[in-house]
Amino acid sequence: MRTARLTNGKHFSIGKILCIGRNYWEHIKELGNAPPEAPVIFIKPASSVIAEGETVVIPPYSHDCHHEAELALLIGTKGKDIPVDQAMEHIAGYGVGIDLTLRDVQGELKKKGLPWEIAKGFDTACPLSAFVEASKVADPQNLQIRLTVNGEIRQDGNTSMMIHSIPAIVSHMSGSFTLEPGDVILTGTPAGVSRIVSGDTLVAEIPGVATLRVSVA
Ligand code: ZN
Repeated sequence: MRTARLTNGKHFSIGKILCIGRNYWEHIKELGNAPPEAPVIFIKPASSVIAEGETVVIPPYSHDCHHEAELALLIGTKGKDIPVDQAMEHIAGYGVGIDLTLRDVQGELKKKGLPWEIAKGFDTACPLSAFVEASKVADPQNLQIRLTVNGEIRQDGNTSMMIHSIPAIVSHMSGSFTLEPGDVILTGTPAGVSRIVSGDTLVAEIPGVATLRVSVA
């Protein structure tokens, strides 16, 4: 069982990991995607989570694994159909996650109109940091997100650039899925996604909130 750790010592068993796609304009443009009319939602299984210091294993059926550094929300309180103005009360903590994506496999599946799970939910596809208590983060909608590969900056964005805000995402997702303690929400990636290969070291960072280092087998 995978565990989400809060800096106050509290632990949660990780439930579902809900993700939003295409939530930053610059990233939509770099992939040549159309801006979505409604948020694009998908799920990664808890079995895809790895922690700080662990190793990413790119499945043999892909030759194009991309990093997507994202602000991660840890849900602390159950809710369904959560109004936007109450959404923040359901967040127990903030961390950083990497939504690893097999871009070649995802592209083929998208072309055929098929689901993406094997491109986004494979084992090790969701490196997650520890979470800092929500009360310690003054403005989660104004956080730098950075990702380096072997020390070189690839992604450098800010959560103020999100299309759908944090409370809007929580509220929207809770309309389809009951949010439960231990669920994690990944809020989309800023621009700069790129390919990773064997031997790379990735560091995702939200300064003042979380750092996450993983290597690629
Ligand atoms: Zn993503």
